Amino acid sequence: MIELHPDLTACLARGRLMSRIRSSGNRTTEARACEIIEELDIFGSEYFLHWPPARPADLCFPAQRLAVLLNGCFWHAHLGCYSPPSKDREAWTTHINTNRLRDLSDLVSLRRRGWEVVVLWECGMNREDVYRKLTSFAGQE
Ligand SMILES: [Zn+2]
Repeated sequence: MIELHPDLTACLARGRLMSRIRSSGNRTTEARACEIIEELDIFGSEYFLHWPPARPADLCFPAQRLAVLLNGCFWHAHLGCYSPPSKDREAWTTHINTNRLRDLSDLVSLRRRGWEVVVLWECGMNREDVYRKLTSFAGQE
């Protein structure tokens, strides 16, 4: 039996799925990830959105100590997917670089706190890729 932090128990009681979807442009990717996790019952679907506190992952599996970052290919400049808009290119580059620095900082912060971190990209949001990456803890690309 896994001991859950009281906050986690409360979170579970409120309903684990789709309770606090961020409005940060990540909505579709997050919804799809949740759908796949639930469909395939990955780790018993025991996950939480936007946890742990302070510097949360997009979702995490506390029992596996696995944190998942869900990245949109444009906003997080996925190699091979991203191309900067032709208009206001410099401003976009600055903005996207800021996102990427924050991604790195989030990843380091989670690892320092003992979480394994997996990055799932918008373009890889299919059952096979999600299952393989989550169950093998394959790490980020
Ligand atoms: Zn991509």
